[in-house]
Amino acid sequence: MKLRSEGKLTITEILNWLLEDQLISEKELKAIEQFSVRWENRNKELTEIICDYQSDKNSHLAKDFSNTKLNEWLAARLKLPLYHIDPLKIDARAVTAICAQPYAERFNILPVKVDDNAITIAVSEPFEREWELDLSQLHRKKFKRVYANAKDIKRYITELYAFSRSVEKASNRQVDKGQLNNLEQLVELGNSGDLEANNQHIVNLVNWLLQYAFDQRASDIHLEPRREHSNVRFRIDGVMHQVYQIPTAVMGAVISRIKTIGRMDIAEKRRPQDGRLKTKNENVEIELRLSTMPTAFGEKLVMRIFDPEILLRDFSALGFNQREKQLWSKMTKQAHGIILVTGPTGSGKTTTLYSTLKQLATPEVNLCTVEDPIELIEPTFNQMQVEHKIGLDFASGIRTLMRQDPDIIMVGEIRDLETAEMAIQASLTGHLVLSTLHTNNAPSAISRLLEIGVKPYLVKLTLLGVMAQRLIRTLCPDCKEKTDISDEQWHNLVAPFVIKKPESIYQAVGCNECRNTGYSGRVGIYEIFQNTSIIQKQITDNCDANNILKLAVKDGMKTLRLSGVEKIVAGISSVEEVLRVAPASMDS
Ligand SMILES: [Zn+2]
Repeated sequence: MKLRSEGKLTITEILNWLLEDQLISEKELKAIEQFSVRWENRNKELTEIICDYQSDKNSHLAKDFSNTKLNEWLAARLKLPLYHIDPLKIDARAVTAICAQPYAERFNILPVKVDDNAITIAVSEPFEREWELDLSQLHRKKFKRVYANAKDIKRYITELYAFSRSVEKASNRQVDKGQLNNLEQLVELGNSGDLEANNQHIVNLVNWLLQYAFDQRASDIHLEPRREHSNVRFRIDGVMHQVYQIPTAVMGAVISRIKTIGRMDIAEKRRPQDGRLKTKNENVEIELRLSTMPTAFGEKLVMRIFDPEILLRDFSALGFNQREKQLWSKMTKQAHGIILVTGPTGSGKTTTLYSTLKQLATPEVNLCTVEDPIELIEPTFNQMQVEHKIGLDFASGIRTLMRQDPDIIMVGEIRDLETAEMAIQASLTGHLVLSTLHTNNAPSAISRLLEIGVKPYLVKLTLLGVMAQRLIRTLCPDCKEKTDISDEQWHNLVAPFVIKKPESIYQAVGCNECRNTGYSGRVGIYEIFQNTSIIQKQITDNCDANNILKLAVKDGMKTLRLSGVEKIVAGISSVEEVLRVAPASMDS
């Protein structure tokens, strides 16, 4: 096929290529052509029209295409590598210096990578090559063309140029004033009245970062000052990703802006501070918890994102299977007793607790919490925050709640004897108490309680059960591949249990959709331990955690590892991920 060297791609051209490659019939070609001239399709991208034709209720194609498939095919036909624009991988400052925004918009081209001797440009119009001459005169470098979706190019031209303009203007402002302090005053002024124009750039930058973080499903935003250029990193599915580098002076202004809206003391930079702020993403209120820390190059700020849609979820979405749902629901429907959720920080305990409480919080019950800090404000709960300054800790918090005629009490964490004793007191007087504890598996919660000094007979009497949990990454549905596992590997994975090896399992590969990690999203794995009469007999002053674990397993408890194995069998996660996250079922 000969490719011409000017003019725009047309729908007829693409349809004829599809016909040549026997992907559509002559009849289908005519039908799509007719569809494409409809008024509602006038501004659509060519591949989009073909996809929309397929979803039109009066039409169907013998061979189905997704937009991704169609773009893959088209790029191959044009003999250009297909490029997926990932803003996290693009150096916004470097690429926007290649050409001005109006120029990029005119040809719908986006520089995506700048190397020492070559510049990579994403194009959607392969035959329009005028720009190549202009830009090569300007830059004296080789140009590599890659094909990208026209809509994506348009969107990221707007976004990346706006971002780098904000950084640049904020930097210039810096040079004008010479000092960081001046800018900080501006930020403060801005908050109390109208925003001054120059301050607006910092505001834009902050809005930008937040929007990006939400789009990328980040759980945390890290702002890390360094000598000249400071780092912005996101944590996505538990793994850190470098996002941007911005001048350190600008970073200072960005951090000050966030501290201002988080009602923190912006003058104080040597003392670590905490704060919180609320914002909206697509009309969902999102809470951010802020924490600063003084470092060698200035103040570092971490924003933890609390999306209520993530904190409050349906149990199936959390990864509970039918049996786990039943067990957990039976346990949490008791009128009194203590239920504990255990696991390390970041294992999803809060999500489980909030989601559970949300189901229990009917108009007929009084549900109170004492938390440190309150992670999500839920209108159906009565939430109280621990305040050490005035002596309001977990233990005294429970004491206060007890006078509030509660039915259900949630205590953020049990970490000392006083809190444990108050929780037991509450349980003995007819209340349901939910809390968290730091232990590796569910049965060792018993030995942990005994260690901090709780009397064995009180544990026996009040503890209903314990759920241990972890979060494992789920395989990216776009790239996961079938793989084999040897009998020995399988045996080691499930030991000491005997479980039939599945016909096939999946492994992580990596593609554009999952930024080459092979994973996208996370799901919980659970170990639900019930304090049955058999177990209760074992709770003594010198009881052995391992022994309790063995008894629980014999009694039908499914370990964390086995819960992970279920996710492997279901093709949701990989062997590597389960081995990484879930501890072995038993030591010996
Ligand atoms: Zn993938």
